[in-house]
Amino acid sequence: MTVADDRQALERFPSTDPATGEVIATWPIDDERSIAETVDRARLAAQWWADLGFAGRRERLLAWRGVLARRVRQLGHLMHRENGKPLDDATLEAILAIDHLDWAAKHARKVLGPRTVRPSLLSANQQAWLEYQPLGVIGVIGPWNYPVFTPMGSIAYALAAGNAVVFKPSEYTPGVGAWLVETFAEVVPEQPVLQLVTGFGATGAALCRSGVDKVAFTGSTATGKKVMSACAERLTPVLVECGGKDALIVDADADLDAAADAAAWGGLSNAGQTCTGIERVFVADAVYEPFLAKLVERVRELRPGSDPHASYGPITMPSQVDVIRRHIEEAIERGGRAVVGGPQAVRPPFVDPVVLVDVPEDSPANTEETFGPTLSVTRVRDVDEAVDRVNGGLYGLGAAVFAKRRGMELARRLRTGMTSVNSAISFATVPALPFGGVADSGFGRIHGADGLKEFTRAKAITRQRFGLPVPLTSFDRAPETVDRIVWLVGVLYGRRR
Ligand code: NDP
Repeated sequence: MTVADDRQALERFPSTDPATGEVIATWPIDDERSIAETVDRARLAAQWWADLGFAGRRERLLAWRGVLARRVRQLGHLMHRENGKPLDDATLEAILAIDHLDWAAKHARKVLGPRTVRPSLLSANQQAWLEYQPLGVIGVIGPWNYPVFTPMGSIAYALAAGNAVVFKPSEYTPGVGAWLVETFAEVVPEQPVLQLVTGFGATGAALCRSGVDKVAFTGSTATGKKVMSACAERLTPVLVECGGKDALIVDADADLDAAADAAAWGGLSNAGQTCTGIERVFVADAVYEPFLAKLVERVRELRPGSDPHASYGPITMPSQVDVIRRHIEEAIERGGRAVVGGPQAVRPPFVDPVVLVDVPEDSPANTEETFGPTLSVTRVRDVDEAVDRVNGGLYGLGAAVFAKRRGMELARRLRTGMTSVNSAISFATVPALPFGGVADSGFGRIHGADGLKEFTRAKAITRQRFGLPVPLTSFDRAPETVDRIVWLVGVLYGRRR
């Protein structure tokens, strides 16, 4: 029985167009047995891929980059169909992923390759080597909201580091996952270095328990906790990229037009279904009214739909509609006001733009991830109060600051993994920068040198160049040796300043 036949025997589930409900294709529901077989194949492939070395992998990854770049419109169409996002947004997402793949392929050797490090004076007889070796097989579990950019943040970096990957895309976007795996196989036909498994949460849970060498999970905080507990059974390390409640802070000296534009885009693009999407806006009292007027004017122009002129698409995951509705209704019941939209904005599968003001601080619209095209705008005395409020939240993924004088200072003080000054979400576009959060937003990093190192083990090697005249680590050590070392340490490190 071939691999394909093997998966064909499994039960299947449909993927649908979220705008119309039309079935696009059906996919196997991988179970424990089929995942075990997939991981076994990946183990052999991982050795072959590791043996190619940095140069061989770079060549193949750049060939894959070429395929993706030449067929980016085709990928965009598929993303538009399965996820619902506007075609151009889908295409831009794919382009961003291509840029990251290029960076990972070109920088893996420099970041991970063997290098010597200087020994200290006390260990001067050793030559010291450091290198970052691949872990083996990485299980990548991805969400549906950025079905290319998000999982590729793990897949591209794990592959560049020399690992094989078993990829479980979201049940809402299996076709996009399959497209990525198939195009990779076109340029690496020899071994199944990147494989696909599909299904629901149980398939992801089985992948966690399959004995892979690390799981890279991107999804909600609630599922992230389940992933960690499943991985704990075999002490499988995890990278957990979870949700967020990202804020945009507007200082009194900010460019208000730019800030309003960024809040609108950061909050409502992709129908607000962005882990680093702007959900809250804090505005310094001095510019609150003019900023709000500009934001309202900007947001009123926006319209959801699945036609080519729509600003953003439908809510991809039907169950999220109830969360968005609850957040809007509760905000208003508790004294908030909708200055754009309101409860009537929710008309599944679409949600019209919503801007809320005066929402109580402990309302779900201000504390929980809404994941919809809504913004909650809060007036603050000054930006220091805004920083305190952001840092008091449960999440800590990204943030944006609009300020002329204090931008960098505020960015540093925010307890988030990433912050953009005078733009929104730009940190995700720089491949050399690590991406990830703190607190309920998870831990570990994708992208950049840190993202490459996530998928490796640091290997330390020493090679003795000559024996010490006074051996320290030998039973032959003379009693006065330690006295001499104590004297030497006093000279080297004992000074008061
Ligand atoms: P989910 O947590 O629902 O699912 C994420 C993935 O985990 C899916 O593939 C899902 O499969 C799978 N899964 C579900 N249950 C389990 C389980 N018990 N064990 C293992 N895997 C499981 O997230 P969404 O797909 O709804 O994605 C949206 C979330 O992702 C938001 O919270 C968003 O903020 C976050 N996100 C974070 C990013 C970051 O980098 N920090 C980037 C993008 C999104 P299935 O779909 O089949 O249920």
